[in-house]
Amino acid sequence: SNGAAVHSFKASNMVIEMSQTPKPKPEMTGLAFGTVFTDHMLTIEWSSGEGWQKPHIRPFGNLSLHPACSSLHYAVQLFEGMKAYRGQDNRVRLFRPMLNMNRMLKSAKRACLPSFNEAELLECIRKLVEVDQEWVPYSDNASLYIRPTYLGTEASLGVKRPSRALLYVILSPVAAYFSTGAKAVSLWADCKYIRAWKGGTGDCKMGGNYGASICAQYEALDYGCQQVLWLYGDDHQITEVGTMNLFLYWTNEDGEEELATPPLDGIILPGITRQSILELALKWDRFKVSERYLTMGDLQRALKENRVTEMFGSGTACVVCPVSRILYQGEALELPCAEDGSSLASRIMKELTDIQYGRTASDWNFEV
Ligand code: PMP
Repeated sequence: SNGAAVHSFKASNMVIEMSQTPKPKPEMTGLAFGTVFTDHMLTIEWSSGEGWQKPHIRPFGNLSLHPACSSLHYAVQLFEGMKAYRGQDNRVRLFRPMLNMNRMLKSAKRACLPSFNEAELLECIRKLVEVDQEWVPYSDNASLYIRPTYLGTEASLGVKRPSRALLYVILSPVAAYFSTGAKAVSLWADCKYIRAWKGGTGDCKMGGNYGASICAQYEALDYGCQQVLWLYGDDHQITEVGTMNLFLYWTNEDGEEELATPPLDGIILPGITRQSILELALKWDRFKVSERYLTMGDLQRALKENRVTEMFGSGTACVVCPVSRILYQGEALELPCAEDGSSLASRIMKELTDIQYGRTASDWNFEV
């Protein structure tokens, strides 16, 4: 679309080198997230002098990086997270992958990494998944996680736009996030750590956002909670949960039945699942659907007045994840959580997984 996108790598120039030592596929049950990788990876190099090189699919292996490169020192880095799903018809599908490509390009601009054509990258990823298609689990709840990554690789300690970069994609088979359906999580809500702020990078998938969040996650565990509820501002706005967007299904201050999620005002990661839930709920047209601010005060008041139906996180990892309890200012707020499959979260879970696993035809699917 823009001038820079013309200077993109082209999927049609792909060079493929097949692995001579394919690995055995893992046992999926109990497999820890992101620990096993497939036989191949995609790598594409860029330099300011020569532009983009040909994309390569090559045997999975270590990278060789200069110790001064800016990704290691200054977090000139970004990534994406998406999945390939195998349907009962044996076809392999990606879910709305162009949205990941758009988000990746947006992160690249924020990180001063060079532009590329999103459709060309998607075609390269499609080929990679095709090469490693036997790694897409034969399962209706496991999947193949796709991790595009983009790094500054210039051999210089200068804090500047890198003159060399590497875009690569690795694949990892992942077990069902929850073995027995979505389990509700407890959250630690505290202003001690702030995930994102106006003018920052919270709306981009840059590694620094995540590295900086790890100690808060461990503090949540110390408080007996499973994840962090990220708050923002003096009014304790509710922003995200862990690495998920957040939805509140409630009766709002005006007595309206409403599904609400915080607006994309720069501190929220624009989740593909979030967008899909908003679009689904708007299509259903059964209750009000809003992108609006929600504060801890709003939530406390609504809980006292019995106006909360449910709260849940959304993301590629789990689709939806109900919230059962929030520890806030020394008080445990209990949230209602229907566990008989009648909840809005379970209805959304079913609709989205039916699409992802090809049980429902949808133009949100992209066949590999
Ligand atoms: N928020 C954050 C901070 C995330 O890292 C993610 C995962 N990408 C999400 C929300 C959910 O986004 P998606 O639905 O695209 O997985």
